Amino acid sequence: MIKAVVFDLDNTLMDFMTMKDNAINAAVTAMIDAGLTMQADEAKKELYAIYDREGIEFQTVFDSFLEKHLGYIDWKILSSGVVAYRKAREASLVLYPHVNLTLMELLRRGLKLAVLSDAPRREAWLRLCSLQLQHTFDTVIAFDDTGFRKPHATPYRKVLSIIKTEPNETLMLGDWPERDLVGAREVGMLTVFARYGFAFDRLPVGYEGADYAIDDIREILEIIDEFNKG
Ligand SMILES: [Mg+2]
Repeated sequence: MIKAVVFDLDNTLMDFMTMKDNAINAAVTAMIDAGLTMQADEAKKELYAIYDREGIEFQTVFDSFLEKHLGYIDWKILSSGVVAYRKAREASLVLYPHVNLTLMELLRRGLKLAVLSDAPRREAWLRLCSLQLQHTFDTVIAFDDTGFRKPHATPYRKVLSIIKTEPNETLMLGDWPERDLVGAREVGMLTVFARYGFAFDRLPVGYEGADYAIDDIREILEIIDEFNKG
């Protein structure tokens, strides 16, 4: 009997990489408008190189970029980039198709819902509130809540202890098998691979580490119904 669903956030509920890309494109255009002398695709490549080095949540990416490119921070260029980034990010922060419908259906069936994210707590909550999901989940566990990242067992155990379900009564949905699903499997949860959110150039099809792989989040309803019908 499945009694709870734990969701990864980025690229599982929301399309994080599309949001990031739209925001970076807008920022580059605005910085060039403000006086940056650089080709847009070159600037974009450098910004992503900084993210690769510092992590995708790095908050002062434009400062680092300008310091490297100009040797100093031009505040007109920096501010233009930041403002354009924020506006575009807000506009392109969207849920995948059928996420709202699926969450509603799960709540109607009486399941507990949780978010388990490796994102910093502040960023995770800001994204959830922007998406109007702040009241949907029984708990939200971000990196700062345990100090451990998936696939370490600690974040999973923390979620389970708060929602008070057994691992074998709990389904984990995530887009990153080595992080989201390996750890969930080790603690004994049912694992579902969100193939629709897989953002890397690796072979997603036929991934053996998950119990199920889905192309639309709505498919977890059938999986749960199948489990719970007996
Ligand atoms: Mg993810």
